[in-house]
Amino acid sequence: MDARVRPALQGTTPARLSVDAGVPLSCARRILASLFRDEPPDAPLDQVRRASRERVAALYDRPSLELIREDESQVDPFRKLVLRLGDGELIEAVRIPLHKAGRYSACVSSQAGCALACAFCATGRLGLRRNLQTWEIVEQVRLVRRTLELAAGERVHGVVFQGMGEPMSNLDRVLEAISVLSDPSGLAIDRKAITVCTAGVPSGIRRLAREAPKVRLGLSIGSARQEVRARLMPIARAHPLDEVIDAAIEHARATGSAPLFAVTPLDGENDADEDARALAALVARFRADAGVSPRLSVIPYNRIAGDADDPFRRQGEARAARFLDVLRDGGVHPHLRYSGGGDVAAACGQLAARAATPS
Ligand code: SF4
Repeated sequence: MDARVRPALQGTTPARLSVDAGVPLSCARRILASLFRDEPPDAPLDQVRRASRERVAALYDRPSLELIREDESQVDPFRKLVLRLGDGELIEAVRIPLHKAGRYSACVSSQAGCALACAFCATGRLGLRRNLQTWEIVEQVRLVRRTLELAAGERVHGVVFQGMGEPMSNLDRVLEAISVLSDPSGLAIDRKAITVCTAGVPSGIRRLAREAPKVRLGLSIGSARQEVRARLMPIARAHPLDEVIDAAIEHARATGSAPLFAVTPLDGENDADEDARALAALVARFRADAGVSPRLSVIPYNRIAGDADDPFRRQGEARAARFLDVLRDGGVHPHLRYSGGGDVAAACGQLAARAATPS
């Protein structure tokens, strides 16, 4: 290992910093609070705290991600941050407005690129470049926070791991990032307001239940029909939907929390009446076996920006209405999710980390 590589301060919790750097816990808390809250680094301190700060500064780096572009949607308050990692890879984070004014969720990337190659996703076309480090995940939230009017009471309320990458494929770092993000001395994000979304990795779902039981599970369904799902999401060939749902049921029983199911209807691909009926049956089976009802989000498809050959299309209005009606007839009341930021390629499925704005 390169002796010059020092750990990043943003990747550690106060408890770990206290042990690793040999400083009092109260000082470790203060140092991280001042980092995450963007307080001036030279604020006056008593002697113990000053000595602790100097010791930490000698042992740790405080790296950052280079903000190379910030795209503000003209149609809604979404904002996309394009960020360059130290080795030149690009990732994206998105600021998502929540219903309550002044509250935002940060949608973060867990990997540069993604190996899972879901057919409807721009990131999947990049292939996997690499896993992100803990601090690179945490730093995305800090940078989203910096776009807010903090004095006006705006704040990052939640974090959703639904940016670039499959979080379960980098779960060690994702779990560490959750510990840092939820620490009261730092960004203090309530774990119940953190959601980890997966394309369907059963072992990761079980581990999430064991190691971060308060965190919500999100599951991209693609289609409730295995053969259709396998066509759209290659991971379904390794982990059939039944296996994934069994793991999600175990998760719900162990944590008592209902997962979020997401489906993106693609015109003529996964939006037939048969697909909607299979989806309603899946939700009913889940409810009966897990004892909690998953929240089903239906997310309109966003075309992949800059790709004239994108084979998929958003449903027309009549087809979209029919899909929802069949779900309701099956006893499911879906949440039609507004998918914002489409004009700056910040919407679901569009994150491709380009240096220039896609045309
Ligand atoms: S949808 Fe998620 S898991 Fe699938 S390719 Fe895109 S980033 Fe990867």
